Amino acid sequence: MLNTLRKIVQEVNAAKDLKAALGIIVQRVKEAMGSQVCSVYLLDPETNRYVLMATEGLNKRAIGKVSMSPNEGLVGLVGSREEPLNLEHASEHPRYRYFAETGEERYASFLGAPIIHHRRVMGVLVVQQKERRQFDEGEEAFLVTMSAQLAGVIAHAEATGSIRGLGRQGKGIQEARFVGIAGAPGAAIGTAVVVLPPADLDVVPDRPAEDVEAELKRYQTALAAVREELQTLSAKLANQLRPDERALFDVYLMMLDDAALSKDVVQLIKGGQWAQGALSQVIRAHVDRFEQMGDPYLSERASDVRDLGRRLLAHLQQERQQTLVYHDNTILVSEELTPAMLGEVPEGKLVGLVSVQGSGNSHVAILARAMGIPTVVGAVDLPYAKVDGIEMIVDGYHGEVFTNPGAVLRKQYGEVVEEERQLTQGLESLRSLPCVTLDGQRMPLWVNTGLFADVARAQQRGAEGVGLYRTEVPFMSNERFPSEKEQAAIYREQLAAFHPQPVTMRTLDIGGDKSLSYFPIKEQNPFLGWRGIRVTLDHPEIFLVQVRAMLKASEGLENLRILLPMISGVLELEESLHLIHRAWSEVRDEGVNVPMPPLGVMIEIPAAVYQIRELASQVDFISVGSNDLTQYLLAVDRNNPRVADLYDFLHPAVLQALRQVVDGTHAEGKSVSICGEMAGNPLAAVLLLAMGFDSLSMNATNLPKVKWLLRQITASKARELLDEVMRIDNPHVINSTLNLALRNLGLGRVINPAAAVQA
Ligand code: PEP
Ligand code: MG
Repeated sequence: MLNTLRKIVQEVNAAKDLKAALGIIVQRVKEAMGSQVCSVYLLDPETNRYVLMATEGLNKRAIGKVSMSPNEGLVGLVGSREEPLNLEHASEHPRYRYFAETGEERYASFLGAPIIHHRRVMGVLVVQQKERRQFDEGEEAFLVTMSAQLAGVIAHAEATGSIRGLGRQGKGIQEARFVGIAGAPGAAIGTAVVVLPPADLDVVPDRPAEDVEAELKRYQTALAAVREELQTLSAKLANQLRPDERALFDVYLMMLDDAALSKDVVQLIKGGQWAQGALSQVIRAHVDRFEQMGDPYLSERASDVRDLGRRLLAHLQQERQQTLVYHDNTILVSEELTPAMLGEVPEGKLVGLVSVQGSGNSHVAILARAMGIPTVVGAVDLPYAKVDGIEMIVDGYHGEVFTNPGAVLRKQYGEVVEEERQLTQGLESLRSLPCVTLDGQRMPLWVNTGLFADVARAQQRGAEGVGLYRTEVPFMSNERFPSEKEQAAIYREQLAAFHPQPVTMRTLDIGGDKSLSYFPIKEQNPFLGWRGIRVTLDHPEIFLVQVRAMLKASEGLENLRILLPMISGVLELEESLHLIHRAWSEVRDEGVNVPMPPLGVMIEIPAAVYQIRELASQVDFISVGSNDLTQYLLAVDRNNPRVADLYDFLHPAVLQALRQVVDGTHAEGKSVSICGEMAGNPLAAVLLLAMGFDSLSMNATNLPKVKWLLRQITASKARELLDEVMRIDNPHVINSTLNLALRNLGLGRVINPAAAVQA
């Protein structure tokens, strides 16, 4: 049974569109069950009727014509009860309804199973038989399993448009929403420009080389051309990226020179293969090898290799680079966006990015955040090849894309974009003003940084310090662990840029979804595995070098603070403190005169919440990593789009935990900050202020909104609101209570504008 199921699902998955998929389903299920009829009815969301979409056994002329409402017929009953229905004699059932067009009167028995995807009834799968008999348990189980498996496939096909007649090359299609992963915050409205791969490596035929020397020469010429192309692109991005971010292009260039790659190609050509075939074979083998490693970071490297291969192939095929028309508000869309594609867009024209593949960890997402371009990645259902030239909205806050937005949505997002523009413009006046409530409570606003571009943006927005410098970012854009000297230089830049304001440097936090190409971590359950401090305590040589680099970098500046990620208990903290003291005495022995910087612990694991006093008593400050704390308290993977609805930092359990952390830290006489995304959410910021956080650290983009809002309310009103929401047990009600209260105060306009659109 399992094999049959697997084969059917595989076949359906490979179908070119929904119609073909449904055709395969009815044919194969009928065969597998030995029934005389198999049909699929899908619920049309617009008419709210189950429409016969495919059948084997009933009259095919009825397809698309026969339909019934949820309170009609047996199909309607299966759909509305959300349960299978197994009848020996269908026509005796009170809900039986006869549709003459189908010719189904010949069939006595009926077995129907609902097709449900993410709680939504999509349709009903039915088998029928002439003889009067009840389908047995095994048959019922088979149909139920089949429809559960097919639900996802049908949902995907529906999303890609077939069911609603989308896909007529864009124009005239209706508004549709596609869910992905938030890659970089912000909203954008623009025109989609689809970048198709310049050449398709998968369709290069094998062919013997007619003239081996000429083929070798062709390959060398292509190599030189691609090398030049990459250098030009890198130079074009020079003023937007710092040297180590641009090093991505050097990595590409190194790959071009890599003996493993070019030598293999040359060898195959010498063996008699033509250049295109040799290149395609070698690149595909490399890509397979990377992909099989199963590690998200290394899979991203596979996409780099593929991109390079396509570029080389394009030259070999003597195709000129695609001459794309870039609109003024270009939203770049591709199956797999690469950093190089970004560089092709003329300056000032790029407003948004959408990638069908990829994760928040991909290079392109890292660059997009550095450049402040709203981005959605992992939009797997988007029929990207069909959207060129159509209007599109990118919601980089929620990871959503809207194609052909209607007037209402365009207006709403237009307001979001305008809001963001005005806030950015209004910065000049806000920038130098303190973040202080109407009744005089100060709330220092800090920024989270990682890339060089963050520094300038943070300063433009009037940040008062860095609450979280994610040191893994420079580690990620490298091909090996950076040396102590290299690290010290990068850290020095960061410390000097903000001096005399404090800069909180977090020690290396890899693992989970952040791994290094040169230090792969392969685990079944990476978020519960070898992450953050667990890795660096197991590798004191990495930890000590990093701390030494931080200390040396701070000489004469003295604005360094060190923060420890993923601490789950006192033992880990004590071991870390021991190593930091060791590094400190070593650098002092080397003659570097630096004081011991303030040390802090991140509260990201529920265990640390319950030990807050013990932890706080041993350090100088506490910083809450609410991204991870929410994920671990609610047991919701922060990167999994399937459970994204459950990830909510306004959940009462999260709010209780935060309050406990603030009170516990203050009881130990220490200061407490928060550096998760929550701090940059204006609604949440009001609660955090009321809870007594001593500073908030956030993405530079959100800082002005939070500052604006906190300057418009009183701390006493915020405390009143906090008291009210702490009595509510439902996160959605908490959200709407806060929304309403702030709107009533006339402060609605800065509450995550995109969130208001979604509501
Ligand atoms: C957090 O977990 O809230 C945090 C700030 O760290 P990161 O997002 O880098 O895991
Ligand atoms: Mg974290």
